[in-house]
Formats: sequence, C-alpha cells, structure tokens
Amino acid sequence: TKNSGRNGFSIYQPSMSPIGRSQVQLKNELWRAIHNNELRLFYQPKLNVTSGEIIGYEALVRWQHPERGLKTPDKFLPIAEQTGMILLLGEWVLNEACHQLAIWHQQGADHLSISVNLSAQQFEQKSLIYLVTRTLEEYRLAPKKLILEITETTAMRYPQESIKILEELKAIGVQVAIDDFGTGYSSLLYLQNMPATELKIDRAFINSIGHKDTDPQLLSMIIELAKNMNLNIVAEGVESEEQQTYLVNLGCDVHQGYYFSRPVPPSEITVVANKYPVR
Ligand code: C2E
Ligand code: CA
Ligand code: CA
Ligand code: CA
Repeated sequence: TKNSGRNGFSIYQPSMSPIGRSQVQLKNELWRAIHNNELRLFYQPKLNVTSGEIIGYEALVRWQHPERGLKTPDKFLPIAEQTGMILLLGEWVLNEACHQLAIWHQQGADHLSISVNLSAQQFEQKSLIYLVTRTLEEYRLAPKKLILEITETTAMRYPQESIKILEELKAIGVQVAIDDFGTGYSSLLYLQNMPATELKIDRAFINSIGHKDTDPQLLSMIIELAKNMNLNIVAEGVESEEQQTYLVNLGCDVHQGYYFSRPVPPSEITVVANKYPVR
C-alpha cells in the first residue's frame, strides 16, 4: 500500500504492479488459491468441422478469486512464472485435466483427448516425465489421449534439449503439440527434428483471413509443411464461418475457436459416447 506505516516509511516502489500488490503478496495469494481450490479449468472443444465430431478439449486455467471474481491466465500466469509457482500450478492443471478426461472416458467418450499447456519451466523440469507417467497411471489413461502443448518459443529456446525431452515424451506415448506456431521463421529447420505430433497455427494467422493483407500462400505453406511432416494440424482462434470455410479449402479441418465454442466449465459439457468403443 502507498504511504503506509506510521513512521512515514512507504513500501511503494515503481517496480510494483499497478494494482499495488507486491510479487511476494501475489505469490502467497496464488499459493493460497491452489490450496483453497480456487483454480478452475475451462475446456474448449477441438472440432473436426468436416465430420462434425469433437475430438478433444484444451484445458485452460482460470482463477475464481473470492473477491475479485474470475480471472483469466494473463492476470496471474506471468506472476506464477516469475515466482516459480507455475510448477505447482502446472502440476495441479495436469492432474485436474487428466481427472476430467478419465470421467469423460468413463462416460463412454473414450475417443476424446485432452490438451494441456506446459510452461517453459515445466517443460524443462527434470521430473516432467515422472510426473506425466504417474498422473496417467493414477487415472488409467492411455498416454496417446494426453496432448501436451508447448509454444514454438519454448521448443526453440534450447532446441537440442527440447528434442531430447520430446523423444522421452514420445517414448511414453503422449502426444505433443507445438502451440502458437508460425511466428518464428528461423525455426522451420529445427522443427523437422522435433518429434511432435501436432501443430497449432497461431491465432494471428487465422485472424488475418478476410483482411486485405491476407497471405494465403503463407497459410497454405504452413499447412503443407505440417502434412509433409505427418503432423496433425489445428487452427486456433477460428471466429467466423468465412475463416472456417477458408481453412477447410486449404485442407485444414480441425478447428478451435469462438465460432464453435468458447472455453466453458465442465458442467456445461455433455460428452457423446464413442460409437465404436475400444473397451
Ligand atoms: P493458448 O494456449 O494459445 O490458448 C488459446 C487462448 O485463446 C485461450 O485464452 C482461449 O480462450 C483463446 N481463444 C480460443 N478461441 C478463441 C477465438 O476464437 N478468439 C479469441 N480471440 N481467442 C480465442 P486463455 O484461456 O485466456 O489463455 C491464454 C493463454 O494462457 C493460453 O494461450 C496459454 O498460453 C496460457 N494458459 C492457459 N491455461 C494454461 C495452463 O493451464 N498452463 C499454462 N502453462 N498456460 C496456460
Ligand atoms: Ca494452447
Ligand atoms: Ca495457442
Ligand atoms: Ca497463445
């Protein structure tokens, strides 16, 4: 707080966040939030627009703050990352998402996959493989039903190390998506060595569809690239029918975006049982 303390000593520093909470305070609040069960996962469907089927959901974290309401990740993930709380938060997210997927599978929708975002720190954490293995075992999930998403930036931070981690993840059978793809051109060469299974085209590209500066060649190049590398391709941030049609014409038919659905709490999701159950 500004100008607090009877001795006239002010703890206000220019480096503090505009809302006036120090990093330490926010870190403590976040810790409390995790332990008081204030975090929530919302889920956004990943839809094959050609078959009309939902093939999976992406888990997106929210903070149901007792006083300040529902907070989106941009309000607390940066602090979580700066303070290292992201590791605890990430562990909670992975566990909760796998738990939810197990529930959907038990309801007969065992074709569904779950996509979970990993921050750079989580991805580079030594215990990642152990954590993932243990969580899959706990909920008796087939590893291929878990898709871990890392951003292109995370993947390219230490490319050699990333390749090793991706090999290990591949060995345990989970899938890996390269998220927010298409912003770093230098990475195309390295991408070929990345044993990922999915490429998510950054929203910025989808957003440009229909604008006068649309570059259809760039988009179709990315889609071709993904196909040549045998990667599943997902367009994210699809907001209109025009964008959807445009993408389907370019050969990309798995979409995520507000046009079909915003991320919603699990209470708003009714899964449809698999027509061809595997068990
Ligand atoms: P992301 O992984 O790229 O997730 C997609 C974001 O785009 C989500 O924002 C989603 O709500 C939003 N979105 C989806 N469709 C549309 C659309 O049609 N139009 C627009 N304008 N936006 C759309 P959200 O939930 O606020 O998450 C923001 C970012 O926070 C995520 O970007 C991801 O980087 C990060 N994040 C979210 N949950 C987690 C988590 O559990 N762990 C980690 N490490 N990061 C997370
Ligand atoms: Ca993502
Ligand atoms: Ca993304
Ligand atoms: Ca993003």
